[in-house]
Amino acid sequence: MTQLPAWQPPPPLTTSVEQIRPPAPHVSTFGGTQVLRPDVVRVRLPMVNAYLLGLPGEPWVLVDAGMPGTAGMIRAAAENYHAGRPPAAIVLTHGHLDHIGGLHDLLQTWKVPVYAHPLELPYLTGQVPYPFPDPSVGGVMSLLSPAFVPGPFDFRPHIQALPPAGEVPHLAGWRWLHTPGHSVGHVSLWREADRTLIAGDAFVTTKQETVTGALAQKPTLVHRPPAYYTPNWDAARESVRLLAALPPALAATGHGHPMTEVQMDLDLQRLARNFDEAARPLRGWYLSHPVPVALPQPGTPDPLKRIVLGALAAVGLILLVDRLRS
Ligand SMILES: [Zn+2]
Ligand SMILES: [Zn+2]
Repeated sequence: MTQLPAWQPPPPLTTSVEQIRPPAPHVSTFGGTQVLRPDVVRVRLPMVNAYLLGLPGEPWVLVDAGMPGTAGMIRAAAENYHAGRPPAAIVLTHGHLDHIGGLHDLLQTWKVPVYAHPLELPYLTGQVPYPFPDPSVGGVMSLLSPAFVPGPFDFRPHIQALPPAGEVPHLAGWRWLHTPGHSVGHVSLWREADRTLIAGDAFVTTKQETVTGALAQKPTLVHRPPAYYTPNWDAARESVRLLAALPPALAATGHGHPMTEVQMDLDLQRLARNFDEAARPLRGWYLSHPVPVALPQPGTPDPLKRIVLGALAAVGLILLVDRLRS
């Protein structure tokens, strides 16, 4: 990972609140869309968001592809805002199950390129599973996380590397920023002109580790990346600081409702400043075993997976023996 300069608080925001178009009222828990900018539409899916970027009538890009079973909801949004035209491309902020769940289904009819960061490609070309989720970091969703399939996933021949210079294919004015920590090849999308940020899971706006946070997306607040799936906390901190220093006026995240400046900026600067105290879990495997921000190597053993599955098998055996005895 490129070494970032020491973090400095950014200068005060110069755009007034009145100049920023506020998000529309919150959409239903069970799905719906929300126009955040004329060319930025949030698709709220169960537990996660996807985004349609591009003006109606022009080439557009889908960002992320939701939980398994949600391709129909994404297609319905495309029908509404883009008259059913397929996107020119799909960009993945990263490849966790909740961001690629509908992708195979979508690619059945949308024969389009799918872009991800080069470091993310081994997870998305059938080579390497993601580091096993850590159920010990706190929260009910963390306890359930071993049930989330860590891959590997295979999206060949569609999947390819994002252009190295930072441009986003088909989207003039947008850049991708490497924001690792939650995954080694995590990217966020940034448009300087109106300071719009699609943050992915670099930070989110709900407590994704809790049931109410993950399902109802309450409360709305700037929060660390989902902890059970974050294997490098130093890198995650530097990524939050990079994004806080932009600074964004609108943050549209992988989980939670979009937030605009003032409250979002205050929260985000606070998270950037106090990341180690406020965001780093008190306990967890990856605190002492961070996954390096480097190309993952096929065949590397995953000790956490062995430990968690071994513990689950032991609990199951104890329960079985107990049942047979009674
Ligand atoms: Zn994720
Ligand atoms: Zn996610």
